[in-house]
Amino acid sequence: MKKELAQGEQICPRCLGTGRYSYNQIDGSVCYGCNGKGVTPKLPENTAKTLKLIVKTDRWNKYTFRNGDQLKAKFCNLSEKDQNPIYMVSDKWGRGFKLRLSNIEKNCDIIK
Ligand SMILES: [Zn+2]
Repeated sequence: MKKELAQGEQICPRCLGTGRYSYNQIDGSVCYGCNGKGVTPKLPENTAKTLKLIVKTDRWNKYTFRNGDQLKAKFCNLSEKDQNPIYMVSDKWGRGFKLRLSNIEKNCDIIK
């Protein structure tokens, strides 16, 4: 069966579109790459898959991130509204929040 791809989607490279991957007792055989959907958001050109950031604002206290914190960000998907990339930004304890790239650029130094 061939999947219809929406714009900005690609066949999941981990399970090749089946949504199934190696079995484990917690989640069965659901693919972690796509949560069983078989498709993942396509990374646009000129968009980094991962980012390293240093927080440069006190306004991110609401996310538990403090000024000066070094964080990692991983591309999640594109905003449906304006196609701005959305990243999962997480600290060293693994607490994470989905934040838009425009927000990240405004409030962080991005280290390459
Ligand atoms: Zn998959």
